[in-house]
Amino acid sequence: MSYLVLARKWRPQTFEDVVGQEHVTQTLRNAILQDRVAHAYLFTGVRGVGKTTVARIFAKVLNCRGPGRKPCDACVSCREIMTGNSADVFEIDGASNTSVDDVRALKENIKYLPSHGAYKIYIIDEVHMLSNSAFNALLKTLEEPPKHVVFIFATTEPHKIPDTVPSRCQRFDFKRVPTPKIVAQIEKILSAEGITIERDGIEAIARAAEGSLRDALSILDQIIAWGAGQDPDAERLAISGDAVRTFLGEVDRQILLDLVCAILDRAPGTALQIIGRAHEAGYDFRQFSTHLVSWIRNLTVIRLVEEPRALVELDEETIGQLKRRLADVSLPTLEQMFALALAGDEQVQRSEHPRIILEMTVVRLATLEDLVPIREILGYVRQLEQRIGSLGGAEAEGTRPPQPSKPALTVVPGGRASARGGNPPDRHTAHEATPPPPRVEGMELIERIATVAEKRRFGRLATFLEHALIRKLEEGTILLTCPPEYTAQSKIAWDEETAATFERIYEEAFGRKIRAKFVPPPRHGEGGERSTPLPSKRRGPPMQRSGHSSEALRSSPMRSRISSTPAQRPTPSPEANRKIEVESEVTDRAPSPP
Ligand SMILES: [Zn+2]
Repeated sequence: MSYLVLARKWRPQTFEDVVGQEHVTQTLRNAILQDRVAHAYLFTGVRGVGKTTVARIFAKVLNCRGPGRKPCDACVSCREIMTGNSADVFEIDGASNTSVDDVRALKENIKYLPSHGAYKIYIIDEVHMLSNSAFNALLKTLEEPPKHVVFIFATTEPHKIPDTVPSRCQRFDFKRVPTPKIVAQIEKILSAEGITIERDGIEAIARAAEGSLRDALSILDQIIAWGAGQDPDAERLAISGDAVRTFLGEVDRQILLDLVCAILDRAPGTALQIIGRAHEAGYDFRQFSTHLVSWIRNLTVIRLVEEPRALVELDEETIGQLKRRLADVSLPTLEQMFALALAGDEQVQRSEHPRIILEMTVVRLATLEDLVPIREILGYVRQLEQRIGSLGGAEAEGTRPPQPSKPALTVVPGGRASARGGNPPDRHTAHEATPPPPRVEGMELIERIATVAEKRRFGRLATFLEHALIRKLEEGTILLTCPPEYTAQSKIAWDEETAATFERIYEEAFGRKIRAKFVPPPRHGEGGERSTPLPSKRRGPPMQRSGHSSEALRSSPMRSRISSTPAQRPTPSPEANRKIEVESEVTDRAPSPP
C-alpha cells in the first residue's frame, strides 16, 4: 500500500474530475471562456465537499501558460500550484491568520504584480474565523481590488461572515455529494487500487460520510489499513460488507426495520424479542437507540412526503413497505412517538443500564394509543350529522317505519381506529330510529364551545381548544389532550376556571352536564404517566384574564378557523331541513313501482 492517503492521491486536478459540484464548475468554466472573471468569490458548504480543491483548480486555469482552457499540469505555474509552492497563489488559513496585522501584510503583498501568472490569487480558507477588524481592513481592498488580484474565500459557516463581504463576492454554495456519486467514486478508486469491497460495504461507507467525499475517502483509508492488518498474506485485499459494517459500528438495517414494524403493529412482545436479537448480535445499545430515533424521524418524513427518497437513506422497497403501514397512523401519534423515543434516548445515553431503558422505551412506543386531531373527528361528525339528518327527514313523514337500509350511526367508544388518518371509520353499529346519541353532540359542541369562548373573550379556553385533541369521549366525561409540543402551553391554559367555563358553556348549549378533564401527553422521560388523569389538586398559574391572551387570540389562526366553519357545518335552517326531507323522499320512493 502506498502511504499517500487516498484523499490526496485522488484529489481532482481538473473541473471534470470534481464530483457532485457541476453547478459550480460549469459556471466557473463559462466565466473563463467568456473572460468574465470576478475579483472575489465566496465558496460555502460543509467540510470535504471540494471547496479548496475547486479553488486550486480555478487558480491553475487562471494562471496556466499552456495551450487550451484546461490546466496543462506541465507549465511552471501549474507545477508550482500542484506542489503548493506557487509564487502567485497564496493559501491562507483563516483560523490562524485572524489579526489586522495579517491582513495588513496581505495588503502589502497584493501591490506587487504576479511573477509569472496573469493573476495573484488569494485562497482564504475558513474565512469566517477572521476578526471583525481584519474583515474591515479586507473590505477596503475588496472595494477597489487591483486588476491582477482574485480572492477566493471558503467557509463552512457563511452566516458568521459580516454581510458586507458576501455582497462584494460572487457566491457559490457547494452541495453535499449525493450518496450514489460517492459510491461510484469509491468503486472507481478501488478498482484502480486493485482492492475489493462488497457493494453493501461501499454503500455503508458512503452513508457514514454524510455527503463529504473527503470523509468517505478517509474512512476508506482506515478500512483498507484495518483490512490489510486482518489478512496480511492476502494477494489481493477483499473486504466483506459485514466487516465494513462491524468496523463502522453500523447497526443492521433489517433489525431496525423489524423493530419499527413491531412498533407500528403495536406488538410490544415482538419488539422486546428484537431487542434481544440486537443484544445477541453484540450491538451497542446507546448507538442502537440513536438509530431508533432517526428511524422514527424517517417514519414522519415517509408519512408526509410523496417522494421521500432524497430525504431518507432507504431503498424504494423499504419506503413502500413503511408507507403502506403508515397510511392510517395520524401525525400527532408520530409526533408523540418521536417525543417518546427522544426522551428514551436521552436516558439510554446517561444510564448504566441502557438495555433496560431501551426495552421500556420500545414497550411504550408499541403500546402508544392513537391520537385523533379534533378537526378530523369534526369532519366525521359532520358526515354523521348529514346521515342522521336525512334519517330524521324520513321520520318526519310519519307514514312508514324507518327503513332498515338507512341505519342511524353511533361511534363505538374506545375503538382504536375510530377516525385515524382522516379516513372515516368503518366500524359502526346500527340503531333502529333512536335520536342521535349524546356523545356525537359532545364532539360537535367542542367547536361550538370554541366559538362561544372567543365571542365572550374567554381567551385561555379558546387558546387551549386551538390545539386540543380528544383523548376519550364517554357518557358524562370528556378527556382532552394535546400534541406533546403544546403541553406547556395547554397546561397553563387549562386550570379549574377553564374547565368550569368549558362545562358551563356545554350545559348552556345542550342542557346536559359534562365533566371535562385535561390529560397531558407523555412528558420527556415520563411516558408511563400518560394514561393517568390529572390529580384532583390541579396546579396552575394564578387566575387572571390578562389583555395578553386576548391579544394573542386576535392574531391567532383560531379566528379564521372559527369564522370559516359555519359554512361547512350542516345548517339547521328550515330550508336546509326541507331540502334533506325532499331528498330523502325522492330516494325513498324511487325504487317503488309507479
Ligand atoms: Zn499549466
